[in-house]
Amino acid sequence: MQKILIVGGGYAGFYTALKLEKLLRAGEAEVTLVDPLPYMIYQPFLPEVVAGSIEARHTVVSHRRHLKTSKIINGKMIQIDHANKIAFLDVPGLGEIKQSYDQIVLTAGAVSRTFPIPGVADNAIGLKTVEEAIEIRNRILGNFDIAANMPAGPSRDRLLTFVVVGGGFAGIEVFAEMRNLASYLIRYYPGISFADVKFHLIEAMGRIMPEVSQKTSEWVLSDLDRRGGKVHLNTQLVSALNGVLELSTGEKFESNVIVWTAGVMASPFMKNTDLPLDERGRVPALPTLQIAKDGVALADAWTAGDVSAVPDLTGGGVGGFCVPNAQHAVRQGKLLAANLVANLRGEGIKEYKHKNLGAVAGLGLYNGVFQSGNIVLKGVLAWSAHRVYHGLAIPTFERKWRVIVGWGSSFLFKRDIVSISATKDPRLAFETWASRPKA
Ligand SMILES: Cc1cc2nc3c(=O)[nH]c(=O)nc-3n(C[C@H](O)[C@H](O)[C@H](O)COP(=O)(O)OP(=O)(O)OC[C@H]3O[C@@H](n4cnc5c(N)ncnc54)[C@H](O)[C@@H]3O)c2cc1C
Repeated sequence: MQKILIVGGGYAGFYTALKLEKLLRAGEAEVTLVDPLPYMIYQPFLPEVVAGSIEARHTVVSHRRHLKTSKIINGKMIQIDHANKIAFLDVPGLGEIKQSYDQIVLTAGAVSRTFPIPGVADNAIGLKTVEEAIEIRNRILGNFDIAANMPAGPSRDRLLTFVVVGGGFAGIEVFAEMRNLASYLIRYYPGISFADVKFHLIEAMGRIMPEVSQKTSEWVLSDLDRRGGKVHLNTQLVSALNGVLELSTGEKFESNVIVWTAGVMASPFMKNTDLPLDERGRVPALPTLQIAKDGVALADAWTAGDVSAVPDLTGGGVGGFCVPNAQHAVRQGKLLAANLVANLRGEGIKEYKHKNLGAVAGLGLYNGVFQSGNIVLKGVLAWSAHRVYHGLAIPTFERKWRVIVGWGSSFLFKRDIVSISATKDPRLAFETWASRPKA
């Protein structure tokens, strides 16, 4: 019985495990998936979690519930010795353990990529996890509550100023959703006007959303401008010390909500393996999704998703490689599973080739943008396409149902506007009044 170890249960890892469960015959192989999280995160929904259009729990897919025969280990890979086929895992409750394997699948994804700008590490927040999305939402709502009590002035301005760094897809989506949430909130805060709330997006390049054409990206810019979202192009963040943002243009403003979406980098854990890495820390792959060493397949080692550098055989991609997105991660995961099984059976394996289907972004309620080749949709049509596409794409029927029913409830009753931020200190109320033995 072959032992297959999957490191990372996000898009690529989850779909690899799901497909392996379908393809493997009884007794053929044992699949183990290791991930510190008990779920895969449907990251395209994070901006809508921030906006309150999707309940946070509905955007994650439980490994244990939906992977029926795989063994799940909630822990993280800290080292791999592929020469001896041993993975070292850090497992809560057990400490460091060794896990032997016959086949390794590396699908550990990516983390937010930052630059050494003063104050960013201490004051900004990423948008890769559901916890980050919840925190951004709680901060916006909490800031409105505090600002409503305060007179106009710099302290109140700071609470009502929101910043996103990075004008890629994720950055623009979350910026638009945050703006949309703030515009909605104003009706419940009579002392706060539309003009009091400031939104800044900082982008180092001369344009936003490289996934769509220049013309479409210009439409998004003017739409954001109309809705009260200021985009600073050709501008770098110079400092964010103590929440005081200084831009390369000399502009300065303060904020305690600084969302960092300026790119991703392959999971840094990959450095602790004896497997090859490219200059960007990605695991090099052949189009067959086998890990490549000097252009030759390494035995029994596979990779897919954001952690990997998979050649883009369509001729698109950046630098000849598939861009890090879910479209690729899902399809690569499925093909990886099929190739791994075929390889075990001594059958032929296939090369990964997927032509980009286009891009669809939600830009707040009833607004969006879609582009596939020369076909462009804007506004409510694109927003509907976004909902249909992602409503159907989130894995498992059970999750689709929860998300779609949630959208229906929000349509009827509008979105929730409370932050349950007290969960950070849940024992406070009990502890304050709890009787203690007399000294
Ligand atoms: C806000 C946002 C919006 C997006 N929208 C879109 C979109 O509309 N369309 C699109 O195509 N793409 C979108 N993407 C990109 C897409 O979500 C990613 O490309 C995709 O998640 C990559 O899948 P993955 O499996 O490689 O990594 P992930 O899904 O990130 O999964 C990696 C997994 O590995 C685990 N892991 C990490 N380190 C270890 C370790 N040491 N040991 C064990 N496990 C580990 C992590 O916990 C995680 O579960 C979006 C991303 C974001 C952040």
